[in-house]
Amino acid sequence: MTTLSDTELLDAARRAAEHAYVPYSSFPVGAAVLTDDGTLFTGCNVENAAYGEAICAERNAVTTMIAAGESPKVATVAVIGLKAAPCWPCGACRQVLREFHCDRVIVEGEDGQPVSLPFDQILPNSFGPDALEAR
Ligand SMILES: [Zn+2]
Repeated sequence: MTTLSDTELLDAARRAAEHAYVPYSSFPVGAAVLTDDGTLFTGCNVENAAYGEAICAERNAVTTMIAAGESPKVATVAVIGLKAAPCWPCGACRQVLREFHCDRVIVEGEDGQPVSLPFDQILPNSFGPDALEAR
């Protein structure tokens, strides 16, 4: 079980961002996903000459979590953009994080300090797996 502070999670995201492949946007982003059982996964954004095939840091971290066979429950995601603060997850990443029950989002504020929000504040009234259950 990993217990990490918000600052430590942002630091893990920052380390991942340093590996970002961003020859087109020059906008490196890193994400750190902490599962509900305390396992940490990180990801960075990876761009492509076919722009639409890029993947964001958050989705990269989530797919790495799934590929590892880990718990599909995201307790917290920390996101950092090396050239922008705060750097909130995009709409696609919010939906993917919603799929895996993300509880909390941490970004770096303009002052460099962690800013934490409950997930439902960044994706209210969301569509998720429960919506597909039979009435
Ligand atoms: Zn995204």
